[in-house]
Amino acid sequence: MKATETQQADLLSLTNLDQEIARSKSAINNLSSGAQFSELRTIQRDLAAKLINARNALDSVELELKRSEADLSLVEQRILKDEQRLNSTNNSKDAQGIQSELASLARRKSDLEDIELAILDQQEMARAAYKTASTDKTSVDEELSSGEAANETEIMKLRSGLDLMANDRAQQVARIPAELFELYEKKASRGVPVARLLGRECGACRISLGASALNEVTALARDEIATCPECQAILVR
Ligand SMILES: [Zn+2]
Repeated sequence: MKATETQQADLLSLTNLDQEIARSKSAINNLSSGAQFSELRTIQRDLAAKLINARNALDSVELELKRSEADLSLVEQRILKDEQRLNSTNNSKDAQGIQSELASLARRKSDLEDIELAILDQQEMARAAYKTASTDKTSVDEELSSGEAANETEIMKLRSGLDLMANDRAQQVARIPAELFELYEKKASRGVPVARLLGRECGACRISLGASALNEVTALARDEIATCPECQAILVR
């Protein structure tokens, strides 16, 4: 088939454009899949679970603290009452009984105070753990949402680039005779349709032409279409 040198150059330019379009589409597909965020999403899920556990642990320590405070307050009320009773009794036997009860209440109070101190320590640790989990979760949330926003922007940029390239392509195709374009499409469906001959190497399959194939190609008139014997790409000389 014949094609002027300009038409051959047009075919080469269309090939380059189509490759660019294919790269953009594949980039859009990759970005749209969101696969690049899957690791971060896993981390986010783990941190969310960690945060819930930390919150539950803190709640339960705080509940325990309330119980311990209530127990302590009961004992303190009992002590106060017993002291009043002790002050108002004249009966020495009663007084002995009250004193012995006061002694056991004092031991109980001391035990409860120890327990409360231990719970306060636990509360401090649980609060710190909750704060850490919360900070970690927030930072991953932010990283993910800013990553996704940048991703969206990139996809939009690529899409508008694709629109421009589609217009450009329509204009280029309009310049190419129908029969030649048909040949182009047929070759494009199998691989790289058009490539430059670089020295003796086909720019599509990168295989060097043998001496006789090269002779045939170089002997062709400039407006005759040359074809790579290996990959069937149109060779632009
Ligand atoms: Zn080739």
